[in-house]
Amino acid sequence: MYKEPDDGEKIKFDKGKWIVPSKPVILYIEGDGIGPEITTTAIRVINKAVEKAYKSSREIKWLEVYAGEKAEKLTGDRFPKDTQEMLLKYRVVLKGPLETPIGKGWKSVNVAIRLMLDLYANIRPVKYIEGLESPLKNPEKVDMIIFRENTDDLYRGIEYPFNSEEAKKIREFLRNEFKVEIEDDTGIGIKVMSKYKTQRITRLAIQYAIEHKRKKITVMHKGNVMKYTEGAFREWAYEVALNEFRDFIVTEEEINQGKSHEGKVVLNDRIADNMFQQIIIRPEEYDIILAPNVNGDYISDAAGALIGNIGMLGGANIGDEGGMFEAIHGTAPKYAGKNVANPTGIIKAGELMLRWMGWNEAAELIEKSINIAIKQKKVTQDIARFMGVKALGTKEYGDELINIIDTL
Ligand code: NAP
Repeated sequence: MYKEPDDGEKIKFDKGKWIVPSKPVILYIEGDGIGPEITTTAIRVINKAVEKAYKSSREIKWLEVYAGEKAEKLTGDRFPKDTQEMLLKYRVVLKGPLETPIGKGWKSVNVAIRLMLDLYANIRPVKYIEGLESPLKNPEKVDMIIFRENTDDLYRGIEYPFNSEEAKKIREFLRNEFKVEIEDDTGIGIKVMSKYKTQRITRLAIQYAIEHKRKKITVMHKGNVMKYTEGAFREWAYEVALNEFRDFIVTEEEINQGKSHEGKVVLNDRIADNMFQQIIIRPEEYDIILAPNVNGDYISDAAGALIGNIGMLGGANIGDEGGMFEAIHGTAPKYAGKNVANPTGIIKAGELMLRWMGWNEAAELIEKSINIAIKQKKVTQDIARFMGVKALGTKEYGDELINIIDTL
């Protein structure tokens, strides 16, 4: 079904390191709802930044693959086999949002891609952009990156309705084997956390902190209550930090005993509920947040709200061999096809993708152009309505970013 570019090459991976050719093939999925408008705008902006930064010496060879509604229309399948083959071959994808119905219908294609490529870390940078209306007094203090474990915990989906055979069997097993009484009207979900999965994301977060000169990693957990899952997550994170990165890490406890933090990444941990109030009242104390799946999901949105507009955030799903880059928001169906949606989230995802590729000069151009556009109040309707200015359309906002990149 797909015509692969003849003059592009695959991105390769070696123990988590990306080996990027000068003309890498990168896949994109337009997505549902507002997806096609924002994704095509993002690709135009990314191409401009790459061209400006590297002239003709580097170029992304985009290859569209189908998923979601577009795939269903073309092939009768929301996640066709040919698309899966391309994802397994090329392993890096910029993805528009895809619709997933609640409590019925098809399974999430987003989750299927994450599992297929084993993209175990969901990484979400949250940094204030001057000009946005934030609920905080000093939003410029917000500069956090959340590393959320993506494959473990309660979201593994090991769940059974209260009246199922499985739930009944589990209740009986617990009663008979462990003398644990559970009421007969109880649904069951199982929380699982593995040492291997905890430690691989810890490694990724620490390596990132060292390479990007970040100052601190905070492990977010509820280990006081859930000792052998969340408590173990904390313990395993410290273990990998101290066994494998000793020269780069100093713990908060060691600092309290007089050790210097000069040139080191500080490692500490905080109890999850406490963190929700702390990131609001003392955002400057948080830098990299390392969290298990459920905590990470919740804190990501709370942190996103601190900058005032979650539509401005991009995220990455990263594994040892691949990455999927996407906006945080969904398909916003009421705005589909109207040229009013804000494409910044997926453009930011593209910026993150360029950083992961090591194409930092192009990424910088994108970051700067967004900052300038917002300062100049050249924004889409979701922000214009707070600024009291006339809104740009999705395409026109993209044109504006491209013009700004030209002047940089
Ligand atoms: P949503 O699509 O993010 O939209 C919720 C609201 O957020 C919109 O009505 C709009 O708010 C605002 N919004 C979101 N993105 C915007 C943008 N780019 N520009 C301007 N405004 C934007 O969330 P949802 O309604 O809960 O989810 C809809 C569908 O998206 C669901 O099927 C869900 O499964 C899917 N989804 C997919 C992903 C993904 O692919 N990763 C992620 C999340 C959700 P106002 O009404 O205030 O203008």
